[in-house]
Amino acid sequence: MHTQLFINNEYVDAKSGETLSIYSPHDESLVADKVQVAGQADVDAAVAAARAAFKGPWSKFTGPQRTKVMLNFADLLDKHAAEIAPLEANSMGMPLQVVNMILGMTSSVFRYYAGWTDKVTGEQYPEVDGVYKIVQYEPVGVCAGIGAWNASPMFFGAKVAAAMAVGCTFIYKGSEKSPLGVLALGDLVKEAGFPPGVINIISGDGRAGSMLASHMDINKISFTGSVFAGKKVQELAAKSNLKRVVLELGGKSPSIIFDDADIENALVHHSQNFLFNTGQACIAASRTFVHEDIAPKFIEQLKARYEQFAHTIGAPLDPKTFLGPLVDGKQFERVMSFLEIGKTEAELITGGKRHGTSGFYVEPTIFLNPKDDARIYREEIFGPVITIRTFKTEEEAISMANDTSYGLSSCIFTASTSRALRVAKQLEAGMVNINSSQTFGMEAPFGGFKQSGLGREGGRQGLMHYVEAKTISIK
Ligand code: NAD
Repeated sequence: MHTQLFINNEYVDAKSGETLSIYSPHDESLVADKVQVAGQADVDAAVAAARAAFKGPWSKFTGPQRTKVMLNFADLLDKHAAEIAPLEANSMGMPLQVVNMILGMTSSVFRYYAGWTDKVTGEQYPEVDGVYKIVQYEPVGVCAGIGAWNASPMFFGAKVAAAMAVGCTFIYKGSEKSPLGVLALGDLVKEAGFPPGVINIISGDGRAGSMLASHMDINKISFTGSVFAGKKVQELAAKSNLKRVVLELGGKSPSIIFDDADIENALVHHSQNFLFNTGQACIAASRTFVHEDIAPKFIEQLKARYEQFAHTIGAPLDPKTFLGPLVDGKQFERVMSFLEIGKTEAELITGGKRHGTSGFYVEPTIFLNPKDDARIYREEIFGPVITIRTFKTEEEAISMANDTSYGLSSCIFTASTSRALRVAKQLEAGMVNINSSQTFGMEAPFGGFKQSGLGREGGRQGLMHYVEAKTISIK
């Protein structure tokens, strides 16, 4: 298990002398102590290494050479997934079956962006008064990434792979709640053939994140986390060197189930898919709107499913576990307080309490008809807690769905394609899933409207945040 910072292709102790400890949310046992916490001198060292690599060896790599090391990294990640998975499972409680999926997505995103290294083409414009213009896209430079804890390797993959494809260098800071999985990737970075300094991995809390956001020699930062911290990152970026900022923030995503929907399909998506990663997913559709004609049947059957899923709660390392604990005591207290608040704001259908007497386990919970200003209906809970309201008309459902400061994802369940597309056009969200939920693929943009973010990750759009356009005029 690596607990040191990975800078310039070497694992090193933090100059800060500061460390942090990780405890298992399953039984509060110590998972790792002495996880090195980056201070200003460590951040500066990582940035200096990334700058030297950007100007030096990495700038000499051709597209096909970058492809090769990126593919090597993806293969190594697949090869070592079984060693990395328990690090995530132990530190943040993600069940092994979920970690394995996340690690598979991480190697996939490296393979996807490995195909882009020679495909970012420029433009040429017709001559005007004897002047021709060509536009070329150049790597933005030294980039930083800051990740949330709920799928750490995936955030590393989405940010770092896109940056590598166009020739940037990187400093990634994992979450202080789940630093171990990404720290383990340093060995694979070196073995894959990335020159020293191209990918650096540090750990630490919001203070280390602030050091990255305010650093004068970082050209771009991509942040995944809460709206609160995302706004701080943007502020620090603006107050320092106006580095480019991409923000992937929280959500309170709506799902609309019309009376012609395939009920069985809707039940699967609002139970199994919603409860994925114990509801700790930014795109989880936690505000469900069901047409009043089908609501009684849907709610009764969803209740039965949630009670069945309560039997899948278990230790993260048990391969049969589907629902693990919440990430830590702080998140547990937060979700438990929402459960108590919810009981005063809505009708509790099932769940609503701790599961067992040890570990940070919570029962899958359904609340019905929250008041319009209910906190459980307005605020992101980030746990296995869903709220349901009923509606009569399409207009009413759309209006309720959009009545939020968030705009990350959304779902529509209906048999009518024309209705699905009509409603999709009106939903204020970066992603709309029709007859589905939590669909995810790195080939398409991922990100939010409104306060769910700024910019996109994934696909060509995600890539273009890592380049600067340069217009060259020729007379
Ligand atoms: P968080 O904002 O508390 O922390 C996220 C990261 O930011 C951590 O690495 C943390 O150390 C760092 N950080 C905290 N304060 C900072 C500051 N002032 N400056 C710089 N960095 C700082 O969020 P969290 O609790 O780790 O994650 C949960 C949140 O993340 C939820 O809101 C969830 O919806 C969101 N999220 C969004 C996406 C997405 O892709 N849109 C994905 C996963 C999680």
